[in-house]
Amino acid sequence: MTLISVVVPCFNEEKVLPHFFSAITEVAGKMTAVDFELLFIDDGSTDGTLSLLRSFAQKDRRVRYYSFSRNFGKEAAMFAGLEKAAGEYVAVMDADLQDPPSLIPEMYDAVQSGEYDCVATRRKDRKGESLIRSASARLFYKMINRVSNLKLVEGARDFRLMSRQMADAVLSMKEYNRFSKGIFEWVGFRTKWIEFENVARKEGETKWSFWKLFLYSLDGLAAFSTAPLAIASFVGIILFIISVIMIIVIIVKTLIWGDPVAGWPALACIVFFVGGIQLLCTGIAGQYIAKSYIEIKGRPIYIVKETNAHDIKP
Ligand code: UDP
Ligand code: MG
Repeated sequence: MTLISVVVPCFNEEKVLPHFFSAITEVAGKMTAVDFELLFIDDGSTDGTLSLLRSFAQKDRRVRYYSFSRNFGKEAAMFAGLEKAAGEYVAVMDADLQDPPSLIPEMYDAVQSGEYDCVATRRKDRKGESLIRSASARLFYKMINRVSNLKLVEGARDFRLMSRQMADAVLSMKEYNRFSKGIFEWVGFRTKWIEFENVARKEGETKWSFWKLFLYSLDGLAAFSTAPLAIASFVGIILFIISVIMIIVIIVKTLIWGDPVAGWPALACIVFFVGGIQLLCTGIAGQYIAKSYIEIKGRPIYIVKETNAHDIKP
């Protein structure tokens, strides 16, 4: 029988996990033609998430869990899940029921027909989200689509079902600074998009503060574009042109009116302005160097502390 692996990153999700577990087992129960494997990745939770996972594993043989030694982030958890997944198809979804499990049968039908390698989901709206959050998300998508070769779909969620082949392609990208939305696009393959209405988180609260999202978006930009590095050269050229014009103006003014010392406040402003731009550009270059430094160390993306995987016989 065909095996579908469902990868679920969980970070402090004790409130919502029981709901999620009953929802996913209900869907799995209805899809009698396929086998399921439920891979829960506990991303260093400090609440009762791990003990819940242990109890799920006890009642249901399809459950496998991996518990990290600390919080490594959702990207690391998704990567771990994809690495451990054995299925011919692999799904990734959030634990908070914002990714409706009821869509899985429809997604499976589309990939299984062979017409698509992947079925991805996007939400039609951002109901229940603050205006600033939606506006900055929109700005981010505009920007990254312009400065990188990616075409990211606005409102895309990480919730998707993909073929083994595509999952392996994603796994072949072993970078430490992971930005999955970009990676999924970068590997290519035929993707079908399904839309659904935004669902509010069932229980608990979001793990992403505005600041964390902002840093994540910068990571995404840096991971898939080197355009910010070009800023230095661009600004340099503009400033050079401006300074040539200013020199000509000053020479002409001095020759005609003989006015050599005026304008030192303007000079001070220019020194600050140019100094600021130089620091900004060095800072941008520094960010890329820092990222290369982290990559080159080749540290593991995650560390597993506990799992029930060895108890399960294939
Ligand atoms: N998550 C995780 N590690 C983290 C943060 C989040 O594994 O450091 C998981 C979380 O448990 C959930 C999913 O990633 O299953 C999405 O997180 P959340 O719902 O908080 O994000 P939002 O939907 O608000 O963007
Ligand atoms: Mg959520």
